[in-house]
Amino acid sequence: MAIAIYPGSFDPITNGHIDIVRRAKKLFPKLYVAVVANPHKSLLFTIEERVEITKAALVEAGINGLEVISYNGLLIDCAKKHGADAIVRGLRANSDFEYEFQMALTNRDLASEFESVFFMTAKKFSFLSSSIVKEVCMYGGNVSTFVPQSVEIALQKKLRTKK
Ligand code: ADP
Repeated sequence: MAIAIYPGSFDPITNGHIDIVRRAKKLFPKLYVAVVANPHKSLLFTIEERVEITKAALVEAGINGLEVISYNGLLIDCAKKHGADAIVRGLRANSDFEYEFQMALTNRDLASEFESVFFMTAKKFSFLSSSIVKEVCMYGGNVSTFVPQSVEIALQKKLRTKK
């Protein structure tokens, strides 16, 4: 049985990420969602918050039987630790391609035993990103079509404390 790992910042998880989880689960019955602790971008939520929010959002979406983990450092080390065979990533409109191609080839150079597997998102999520969701929410916009309700609540709470 192939084991896959879906890494990301998930700051926070959106319906686009959840769409990828649903697609990946069909091919990989054992799937880890791996929240990176130290990405090279500034984040709204702490690693603990992102893990909790991700877990709650997946339960709310009716997705069970996968593990949400966190990791620091290189993805391939985390993949090795969990016995993964594949790295799952999502592709939106063509803006993702170059970065994902670079990451996949770098990971292959570092550890050729892992295959990177890409799932194309649903059309309706192809322009959705965590950054857009945060921006809309920050200015009081309705994000209920972009994220599960538990994520919306977490966002509103966090943004209130930031003001
Ligand atoms: P990272 O910082 O690693 O890019 P993200 O949380 O932004 O972390 O994204 C994790 C993965 O999910 C990436 O492969 C990204 O392309 C994908 N992704 C993000 N948003 C969407 C979306 N709306 N639809 C499909 N895939 C997405």
